[in-house]
Amino acid sequence: MTTLLLPWHTTFFEQWHAQSQRSHAYLLIAPEDTGGEAFLHQLAASVLCEKPNADHAPCGSCSGCQLLAAYSHPDLRVLRPSILDANHPVEELRPEKPSKHITIDDVRELANMVNQTSHRGGTRVVLIYPAHKLNLNAANALLKTLEEPPANTLFFLLAHDAKQLLPTIISRCQRVHLSRPSTAQAIAYLNQHCGDNPNWLNDLTQENGAVLRVAQLHSTNYFTLQTQFIHALAQGKDMDALKLAEQFDKHIKDADKAYLSGEARTLDMGVTLMWLQRWLHDGLLTAQGVGTPRYYAQHAKALTSLFKNMPTSLVQRAHAMQNMLLKEQRTSEHPLNIKIWLEKLLLQYTQLF
Ligand SMILES: [Zn+2]
Repeated sequence: MTTLLLPWHTTFFEQWHAQSQRSHAYLLIAPEDTGGEAFLHQLAASVLCEKPNADHAPCGSCSGCQLLAAYSHPDLRVLRPSILDANHPVEELRPEKPSKHITIDDVRELANMVNQTSHRGGTRVVLIYPAHKLNLNAANALLKTLEEPPANTLFFLLAHDAKQLLPTIISRCQRVHLSRPSTAQAIAYLNQHCGDNPNWLNDLTQENGAVLRVAQLHSTNYFTLQTQFIHALAQGKDMDALKLAEQFDKHIKDADKAYLSGEARTLDMGVTLMWLQRWLHDGLLTAQGVGTPRYYAQHAKALTSLFKNMPTSLVQRAHAMQNMLLKEQRTSEHPLNIKIWLEKLLLQYTQLF
């Protein structure tokens, strides 16, 4: 087995290769940030290798493997938002105008490829991820290709939630749910790639088991900023809401700039809102004496001093705030003014105490 495969993907990899009858299009549904994208490329590599090992791992030395390593295999197409290629190792493959979506031009270009015969005489592979980034025109154009599938062409689409896709696209694909890592697998992965850390379980819980996101965030200032934010919230009514809003307005703008230059997204409005929601969630558990903090167990002392013995009227107000945050979460992608929005929320928070 290729050493690159993540342990939670090996079963499907083996099953897929063992199938005698294959669909021409697969929709793989994988929890976000658990390596589904890399797995798609590993599947493609195993198909495009001209002399694969007995376990279907690519040999790494045939011309198919070499073309793939040089990003120039003529029988592979990868459709993904071009912003992901902003720092592509091959300079010519970096987009002039990075897009956050998969556009109709991307899909049209794909049609040119699949309508010609395969360059190397084998199977052609098309990877599309994340599939919900296909804009509506692109999805409709792709639908036409999937309805009249070209010969010897395999489509692998990756999504995190099938509900985000057009039902017509879903119905043209064989749907497969990829496993998520077990906690033990995720911790072993993090220990191996980022070094031992007693907080892994805690970080994984906070990120809903998204192991690659934890690994990636670990290399940024994300957890430092989160701690800074939580320490401020822990001050309750003494928190300087305006100062915190100003700081995080800047952090969010910095993170957005970094994202637009091709770095992974770390902080945005939604994340800030999520931290506040989780803090309130843990606070309400503490106030009602029902269970231990789920997200911020390491701040149990601060939660207790703020929320324990909270008067019923304020508990109700905290509940109302949580409901309001849920509604805000849905619009947080397009705030008009980050700073004013943060000030409003954080001032409201200080009034809970
Ligand atoms: Zn090979």
